[in-house]
Amino acid sequence: MIKKWQSSEIEELKKLADEKTNKELANMFNVTLDSIEGILNRQKIKRKNRQAHSIVINVKEIEYKIDSNNCWICTSHKANNCNGIAYPRVTRNGKVQTVAKFMFLKYKGQLPEGHLIRHKCDNPLCINPEHLETGTHEDNMRDKVERNRCASLKGSDNPSAKLTEDKVLEIRKLLLNNSRHYVAKLYNY
Ligand SMILES: [Zn+2]
Repeated sequence: MIKKWQSSEIEELKKLADEKTNKELANMFNVTLDSIEGILNRQKIKRKNRQAHSIVINVKEIEYKIDSNNCWICTSHKANNCNGIAYPRVTRNGKVQTVAKFMFLKYKGQLPEGHLIRHKCDNPLCINPEHLETGTHEDNMRDKVERNRCASLKGSDNPSAKLTEDKVLEIRKLLLNNSRHYVAKLYNY
């Protein structure tokens, strides 16, 4: 059945089009998605608000390999650098988020207000939901300080240094594609 649009309804539609998606409009006016698209085109209703045009884009399949630390190392999504740490990222509904966050929200639930995703395993490439927890920015900063304290004597001048700077560069390269646990094993740590 083809809907006859009343002029009052069209006025209503014009007002709502900026805030609502086609799907929401279809529900509100109790018509099909095709019908909404048709009337928007016929009435040449343009939207100012770009969000109303957002399309749900299917997430590219997330692939990973499991290492000996039971870390799920993401292999399908690029790790883009953010604040010096490279996290695999995924685009969803036009928004970019880390794959780790995506996995946490999917398998573990909500992220409390103001909280971030943290890696219990300390491997930014890991997307194993069991290795993820939520925490505050302050928790992250505290971890950072603790790590820096351990590394305060820098380089091979440190009497307890087991690594030369060359080795460190080599290890950093390896860490891009491998877990810390795996690399540590390679170097007998
Ligand atoms: Zn892990």
